[in-house]
Order: sequence, then structure tokens, then C-alpha cells
Amino acid sequence: MPFQLPELPYPHAALEPVIDSLTMQIHHGKHHQAYVTNLNKAIEGTPLDGMGIEEILKGLDMTNMAVRNNGGGHYNHSLFWSIMGPNAGGAPGGALAEAINAAFGSFEAFKEKFGQAGITRFGSGWAWLCVQPGGKLDLCSTPNQDNPLMPNTGCGGTPILGLDVWEHAYYLHYQNRRPDYVAAWWTVVNWTEVERRYAAGR
Ligand code: MN
Repeated sequence: MPFQLPELPYPHAALEPVIDSLTMQIHHGKHHQAYVTNLNKAIEGTPLDGMGIEEILKGLDMTNMAVRNNGGGHYNHSLFWSIMGPNAGGAPGGALAEAINAAFGSFEAFKEKFGQAGITRFGSGWAWLCVQPGGKLDLCSTPNQDNPLMPNTGCGGTPILGLDVWEHAYYLHYQNRRPDYVAAWWTVVNWTEVERRYAAGR
């Protein structure tokens, strides 16, 4: 069964004005679809065919650029859609809030550090919040479509929050103003889903 583009869990316009509808249509329907199509082409007839995406990424040969770029792209965007939503924003609660305070001092300090990881990523890439076995949190950033599941990225653990800072994620509405996109993005973060991923990954 080849990989398939997951449906968006909300309408394209649901994240406006933070993320405009046209950006969502192109980002999901064109960019993510291309990662899925090219991932399926890259694994067809290879031992990776039939494996789950997480299994593929964890065991990835990082010189396999087609699977690295497109498998990463498929995983990263699938996570990205899920951790956003309408009527979102605010702050996390429960065990995740405690872990954020333990790791970063406060939610505000975490947001500052995570935002800077995205803003200072040169070119294209992602900022990540990851949970380690036991529940400790780490923050990091990767270039291109790399992610913390892959070997030797300098990031580790299970990603529970990811921010896409490729220009395709924000350029139509924000042009070169990546910091404005990052600042606004917090109001569409679905903390319920991030909390669920934290509980599952700890
Ligand atoms: Mn993207």
C-alpha cells in the first residue's frame, strides 16, 4: 500500500488570518502531495516498500537523498497539519506544561527559544520540540526536510511539535518576514494534540 496524502483535519481557510487559505491549498495539495508521490517512487521495489514511515526514517541511510527528502517531507508535514487547528493557541497544560517549565524555565522562555530556532535556521528547515524516553524535552532545528527521527541530525527523540520555516509555508502572506509568521503561528498551535504526542512519546 503506497503512502497517501492525509486529509487536512480542518478546511484550508480555518487557520486564517495566521495562515491564508491559498498557502494551505498549495502547501498541502501541491508540496506535501509531491513528497508523497516522490517517496512512493523512491521506495517502489526496494526493501523499504511496505515499511511504516517512522521505521523508514529511523533506519535511514542518509545518503539516500530521495527517501531522506521526500520521506522527511511526508512525515514532517503530516505532523505539522495535526499540531495546528482553529480555536487553538493558548498554552499547554498538565504533564507537558510541567516538562516545559522544567526544561526551559517558563512557557514564555520556551516560546522565545523555539521561535529563535526557527527564525535563525538559514534557508529552509524546521524547528522541533522532542520528547526523550522518560519525558525530558529537547529543542532543536534541522535543515531541509530532515527530522529528529533520522540518524545523526543533531536532533533526537520523538518530535511532538514542529514548525515549518520553508518560504513556501509563509511567503504569500508574510513575504520575507519570517519572524512575523513565527510570532503569529503560536495562536494556531493545537496544544491538545501536542500533549497527546508528549504522553505517547515519553
Ligand atoms: Mn512545508
